[in-house]
Amino acid sequence: TMLAEGVRAEAAIDLAALNSNLAALRERTPSADLMAVVKADGYGHGALPCALEALAAGVRWIGTATPDEALALRAAGIGPEQARILCWLWTPGGPWARALRDRLDISISGQWALDELLAAVRETGVPARVHLKADTGLGRNGCQPRDWPDLVDAARRAEAAGELRVVGIWSHFACADEPGHPSIQAQLDAFAVALAYAERAGLRPEVRHIANSPATLLLPGSHYDLVRTGLAMYGVSPVPEVGTPADFGLRPVMSLSARLALVKQLPGGHGVSYGHKYITPGETTVGLVPLGYADGIPRHASSAGPVQIAGKWYTVAGRVAMDQFVVDLGGDTPAVGEEVLLFGNGERGEPTAEDWARASDTIAYEIVTRIGARVPRRYF
Ligand code: PLP
Repeated sequence: TMLAEGVRAEAAIDLAALNSNLAALRERTPSADLMAVVKADGYGHGALPCALEALAAGVRWIGTATPDEALALRAAGIGPEQARILCWLWTPGGPWARALRDRLDISISGQWALDELLAAVRETGVPARVHLKADTGLGRNGCQPRDWPDLVDAARRAEAAGELRVVGIWSHFACADEPGHPSIQAQLDAFAVALAYAERAGLRPEVRHIANSPATLLLPGSHYDLVRTGLAMYGVSPVPEVGTPADFGLRPVMSLSARLALVKQLPGGHGVSYGHKYITPGETTVGLVPLGYADGIPRHASSAGPVQIAGKWYTVAGRVAMDQFVVDLGGDTPAVGEEVLLFGNGERGEPTAEDWARASDTIAYEIVTRIGARVPRRYF
């Protein structure tokens, strides 16, 4: 994973690690299927290459947030015979007809969406494959318990009319990453109630699903028929206080590195970067790293983010700028052009995405997902 000649910066994507993570996750959930969640460009790793690797690993379910993300995978050649693709974030006027023609699985959270979907079913003559989403306590997307009977009954009538088939019933956790949080059991109970109502109403879903990555790792009782794994599949721990990726048998897929653009000496008492938020404590050397917040390096990592250069760790000095940041090398003089490792799988003793999350007061999901389009991805 060394930087290729002449490259400013790159995100190296280890598809073999993705493959082995999928195997490790499937081992944890032998009786449930696994959905590879590739929304947000595969959490920054590249939606299409990651989806293709998942298919090669035997995965048959792909998940995206927006319908456009799902349609792009179909357009790239992932056919309905290869993968079921579920998308769950619909807005009024969305591409319902294209989704039907492309045989997407469609999540429905409320009556307005069901109405628009059924209009498209009548227009295209293609019956829909629907996953009804229950809000079991997240308070975000999904149908509230008091509206659930009406939504189920409406879907049941459309099913009887041959307009759709309810293939899934599903929900999403609020606090699966906080072991023992009382909302976890409350949501499982609410999900069981929602399922029981749907079954009494005559629905026979093929898949019931609620588990995300933390639930896949920590709550085997929540797996039902399908688990939807995003972050864990990319080898990043969704529960850093509970375990590292290695503790769960996972290997980080993305490594981010850049080439040192400048090494120079600064006298003591010299301000560094915008706002002079860092003042050199004494005469020192500094290095210029050609990545900034436009590349997804959090500005919150100012004076905090860790990097490794020639085997040694250094810290961001002063503010992260749009395209670059400075590290205080403390008198060391690595060569210009030396590889700067921001994060990786730790095999070379480098920081991890979790370290950057801690330094930026955020979660590792945000670190990998925001690595920008200006950073080339290299697959290996
Ligand atoms: N399911 C839904 C509805 C999601 O929004 C997400 C991502 O936030 C996931 C599953 C995957 O979550 P994770 O990355 O924790 O596996």
